[in-house]
Amino acid sequence: MINFEKSKAVIQMQYVLKTVADNMMRPVSRYFDENEHEIPWDYINYMHQAMRGMGSANLATSPEKQKEEAAQKTKKPRQVFQVMAYQIEMLSWGDAGFYLCTPRGGLGSAAVEAAGTPEQKQKFLSPLDGKDPIFTAMAITEADAGSDNSKIVCRAVLDEETNEWILNGEKIFVTAGKLAMLDTDGYTVVWATIDPEAGRAGIRSFVVEAGTPGSEITKQEHKLGIRSSDTVTLNMIDCRIPFENMIGDPEIKKKDTKGFKGAMQTFNVTRPLVAAAALGVSRAALEEVRLVLKEQGIELRTMIPRSKMTNIERELSDMERMVRSSWNLTMKAIWMSDQKISNQLESAMSKLHAGDVGSKVTQKAVEILGPMGYSREFLLEKWMRDAKINDIFEGTGQINRLVAARKILGYRGSDLR
Ligand SMILES: Cc1cc2nc3c(=O)[nH]c(=O)nc-3n(C[C@H](O)[C@H](O)[C@H](O)COP(=O)(O)OP(=O)(O)OC[C@H]3O[C@@H](n4cnc5c(N)ncnc54)[C@H](O)[C@@H]3O)c2cc1C
Repeated sequence: MINFEKSKAVIQMQYVLKTVADNMMRPVSRYFDENEHEIPWDYINYMHQAMRGMGSANLATSPEKQKEEAAQKTKKPRQVFQVMAYQIEMLSWGDAGFYLCTPRGGLGSAAVEAAGTPEQKQKFLSPLDGKDPIFTAMAITEADAGSDNSKIVCRAVLDEETNEWILNGEKIFVTAGKLAMLDTDGYTVVWATIDPEAGRAGIRSFVVEAGTPGSEITKQEHKLGIRSSDTVTLNMIDCRIPFENMIGDPEIKKKDTKGFKGAMQTFNVTRPLVAAAALGVSRAALEEVRLVLKEQGIELRTMIPRSKMTNIERELSDMERMVRSSWNLTMKAIWMSDQKISNQLESAMSKLHAGDVGSKVTQKAVEILGPMGYSREFLLEKWMRDAKINDIFEGTGQINRLVAARKILGYRGSDLR
């Protein structure tokens, strides 16, 4: 049964993260917005330590105890992504750029979690026996392949003598690619084709570990928003990685579409998480408007008929409705991810809806406060710039509309494009 009620642990986590947002994000948000490419190390180090503290309790327990705890966990409904969504929403409420620099929040590890084999999860996600990545990234986009992944030309060729994949190609707009490269246990999940003739069917995803010879960051973007988060170009020239670093079952045949479907599963998990980020910044804007109006002595009534409301009351209630309904859609998609129920439709809908809401609500907030909204003395105009990205990465609003329409109408990708 769907249950969106927050556990005590989630409420406690939100409280802690709100304190982090109030003390470590908001006071320096403007600085990092104006000093693009500086990395917010104080925040990163603090969060790394805080998360390590939480993790160290696990590390200290014996393997027997851990097995017992794991067995108990399997009896409870899985809430991995639900907890992540609450975490992301609150961090994005604090600062959407900082949230993208949060240790252990990367899309690369989400890809391994969504489509990796048990051995790969052990190797790339398990601090006890494998890597302990603090930063991971995911590199799909290329100069001529963004929305249409079938155009990917980054190539992976198997060297049968050494049993290694050799990657060649350039990936652009890789979020946290620099951080993933600086972290010795970090990695970037790269999409490449093993058969250019096969289109989507030839695409697979590969883990490129930080410092792998042949991989290099060649550019860092200047951006409209989320300017504390790095966005880079990753170049690969004869970059050799182990055979097992292809995510999913390595026995997948060359033309088998299962490999691509596996890679696409990542989106079903990550899109609702991006939606959660969009809703965090939307909530920040909405709360700020209410606060400022209250400080100005403007009373905002809610429990009255719409026809009796002032224009601002009506606008605010519309904004609130958009944020809340979007959150419900998002939580449903996330609950389905946790239950491992197919959620391509819900995931696309949650992302396209929240992407829209993020842009509309933050713009409306700027509009309602007029010069105060537009001024760089306040963070509202920054939030408006920050929010837009949620409608672009992990599939634009248009692409998610297409995905949802195909699902509803029962069309294949080739029928509706
Ligand atoms: C700050 C930032 C961070 C990013 N981070 C990452 C990352 O970590 N990893 C990564 O791989 N990529 C990342 N991206 C890239 C992002 O995912 C792409 O920009 C996005 O998928 C769109 O691809 P594109 O830029 O090639 O645009 P295009 O595909 O060229 O699309 C251009 C416009 O046309 C629309 N369009 C395209 N096809 C259709 C269609 N069939 N029907 C209707 N409209 C259509 C699109 O919606 C868009 O509005 C990032 C981008 C930005 C700006």
